Amino acid sequence: MSSQGGGGRPKLLWKLDIDCPACKNEMVIEEYIHNIPIIGRIILSSGECKSCGFIYRDTRMADSRGSQILKYRVESGEDLNTIVVRAASASIEIPELKVKVNPGAASQGFITTVEGVLQRIVEVMEFLKEDEEVDINVWEERMDAINKALQGKLRFTLVIRDPEGVSKIVSNKEERLNMYK
Ligand SMILES: [Zn+2]
Repeated sequence: MSSQGGGGRPKLLWKLDIDCPACKNEMVIEEYIHNIPIIGRIILSSGECKSCGFIYRDTRMADSRGSQILKYRVESGEDLNTIVVRAASASIEIPELKVKVNPGAASQGFITTVEGVLQRIVEVMEFLKEDEEVDINVWEERMDAINKALQGKLRFTLVIRDPEGVSKIVSNKEERLNMYK
């Protein structure tokens, strides 16, 4: 094994002072670079606000490719295992399931699989169920479709809109479009 850059442990790049997304007080985050086989070089950021306890986390590719829209067509249960690096600044959309998750101030970047993305959507859906404004019939219909997708019984397209171009779908089926022509 090589000792430099070829995998191994995350290496601290720097510490940054940022404004806490929750309370706006200054907080410190640490950024690490980590070279992961298959995925590539990623930057991991984390920190905790001393004023309010907010936990900041982000995961993004070390190299930006400019504002991009990433698309991935899920055609089988196997495709659900594809690894996804979703940066905090990116939104997630699945047109066939009529779901969209926008990046909020408290949004966190993460590495997961397509299945993991769906499970996060299920969490958001469970949260929405408590909302009185939500039509329960529409909710159930949508949840049904999400569950079918989780079982690999529904084809769908995962769309990641990433203004910073630091997200990645780790597959040769990944399609990339420039966000601004
Ligand atoms: Zn705070």
